[in-house]
Amino acid sequence: MVGMPAAVLVDEGTLAITERPRPRVRRPGDVLIDVEACGICGTDLHILTRPPGHPYRVGVVLGHEFVGIVAEAGSDVRSLRPGDRVVVEPNVACGACRWCHRGLVSHCEHFTSHGIFIDGGLAPQVAVTARACHRIAHSVPAHLAALAEPLACVVYGTRLTQAQPGETIVVVGAGPIGLLFCAVLDLAGATVVAVEPSPLRRSLALTMGAVAALDPDADDVRGRVLDLTAGFGADATIDAVGTQMATCLDLVRKGGRVVLFGIDTHARAEVSQARITRDELQVIGAYVGQSAFPGAIRLLEQGRLDLEPIVTHRVRLDQLPDALERARAGKAAKVIVELQ
Ligand SMILES: [Zn+2]
Ligand SMILES: [Zn+2]
Repeated sequence: MVGMPAAVLVDEGTLAITERPRPRVRRPGDVLIDVEACGICGTDLHILTRPPGHPYRVGVVLGHEFVGIVAEAGSDVRSLRPGDRVVVEPNVACGACRWCHRGLVSHCEHFTSHGIFIDGGLAPQVAVTARACHRIAHSVPAHLAALAEPLACVVYGTRLTQAQPGETIVVVGAGPIGLLFCAVLDLAGATVVAVEPSPLRRSLALTMGAVAALDPDADDVRGRVLDLTAGFGADATIDAVGTQMATCLDLVRKGGRVVLFGIDTHARAEVSQARITRDELQVIGAYVGQSAFPGAIRLLEQGRLDLEPIVTHRVRLDQLPDALERARAGKAAKVIVELQ
């Protein structure tokens, strides 16, 4: 059997580049994809922590943000042909359970995810269901097309933020997701303020459209946000980390919205419940994305967002362990692995 190198979760919290058999089209609705590029995200870092801060399955090929070319299509596939270029929605719902029937596909009883519970894109090839594939133009460079998945999640999160032109929105955490929020909210007409301890990421937040990037370890963040909003506080705040609910509640105005986007299963926030009640705050959970890929793909194809600065590292598969350490230390924003 012909093998291929792959980034595999070999044990709890442990990644290794190992040899795997090449995947094949096993079901008539599947396609085989030659992966061009695959992004690394905070979820991967949470999975590669001991104890892990995100659910996982030992033995899978990691990578849930990928773009590639259809190499082979199963006999039932009508929507795609070999040579088509696609980005893949990694979270696959069954479409038939009681949650799917209510349109809550992210809460599907049989929900599974490429790169987390089933094999993902950190390998030269992966087999996926054709239902999960969205066509994307060949004109979008692969390292930017690989941003379609996180961008789709951010488009969805932005929808839940209900951002209006002229509003001020604070993004807490300027990792890749926070940086994408800065870019999308700026395009949507909001004034964006980022809060982030890493100097590299603060400077990237300004590049991506934030008017201010505050250091939680050195700046009076609440004072600065009040200054920037004539004493009101932010119209909405977004936790792009998964542990920042208290900060988000502290910075939002009366009647404002708090969107909890990042996810960390270890987080236990201590918050003032009375403030939520008395000030009529809306606290909104945003888990992955629903129906957001088409919008994200349009943004990438139109080139209306310059996302190049977010991709700080483009590496080969064998360079991934080093790049992960840089990302963990806040010395990288988006790491993209180029597979071909
Ligand atoms: Zn992700
Ligand atoms: Zn379902």
